[in-house]
Amino acid sequence: MTPDDQFTAPLFAGVDVGGTNVKVGLVDDRGKIVADTKFPTSPGESPDIAILQALEEFKALIEPSGFQWSDVAAAGLGTPGPMDIHRGVILTPTNLPGWHNFPVQGKLAEVLGKPVTYANDAGAAAFGEFWVGGGQQHSSMVMITLGTGVGGGIIIDDLSVDGANSHGAEIGHIVIDTRDDARICGCGQAGHLEAYASATALVERTREAMGNPDAGTVLRNLIGETSPLSALMVATAADEGDALAMKLVSETAVYLGRGIAQLAHLIDPAAFILGGAMNFGGADSPLGVKFLNEVKAEVRRLVFPVLGERLVLNFAKLGSEAGFVGAAGLARSQYNRTR
Ligand SMILES: [Zn+2]
Repeated sequence: MTPDDQFTAPLFAGVDVGGTNVKVGLVDDRGKIVADTKFPTSPGESPDIAILQALEEFKALIEPSGFQWSDVAAAGLGTPGPMDIHRGVILTPTNLPGWHNFPVQGKLAEVLGKPVTYANDAGAAAFGEFWVGGGQQHSSMVMITLGTGVGGGIIIDDLSVDGANSHGAEIGHIVIDTRDDARICGCGQAGHLEAYASATALVERTREAMGNPDAGTVLRNLIGETSPLSALMVATAADEGDALAMKLVSETAVYLGRGIAQLAHLIDPAAFILGGAMNFGGADSPLGVKFLNEVKAEVRRLVFPVLGERLVLNFAKLGSEAGFVGAAGLARSQYNRTR
């Protein structure tokens, strides 16, 4: 019996470290969120402070739940990269200068008094979607997150593909354009998916298109002194039927389709899930559905027929809780494997 029949013990603790907030949550054995909260990261400060605060938050969360801290079997931690997952060390994340080369996995395990599973933040979010979100009911899944950059996670049979060097799902950096004048990615290399299909890339492509004085678009009126051009602005204009914005969104779908076609041939996962802030309104909006259909059409044009016929491509379902839920889920998988 559990203290509350609503939840199934044991519980798992999830920690999702971002540049702005640290999200922490307690998740039950079936992936239901028992309680969660967040606190500001203080990126320039030592991670010791954040780790101690995570423990305090967990204690505050467990108190009213009817569970005891001893009901928590294990914890999972997701952080931005670069990282050395196998050594449990966060390396040099750009937006967390105080965290460089910190043995974060061992330190969190010591403070929480629980075994800690360590993952890339995108990998943790992917596992959350795999466990209880858009990828549920599928045995394997690739998640692609479209935001400032393009990230992702590859989950196969309950395992996150981290790779030997912790760069196992760098989906944003697969090459989709081999021409000499290909766009330059944030990583410095040319022709990567991120340089074409991220929100940053959409803004850049839109700026270039607007540089042509003949290109009539409502976007010119939307941009103000305090509101620079954004991917959301392009999506809004496309939603309102602006021809230039619609063209740019459709081109984003084609670029993404090229990336997904490569992943389909390489991995052949049961499902692809699209996450991240740039979702063009998601599954409930006509623009989101149109975007998804255009991505699918491009994938089908490029892959073996059976992969096109059976293609499953959906938007993510969990939102910002995917990271800590997935971190907890990875802890649960590890716990069940080693028990
Ligand atoms: Zn790159």
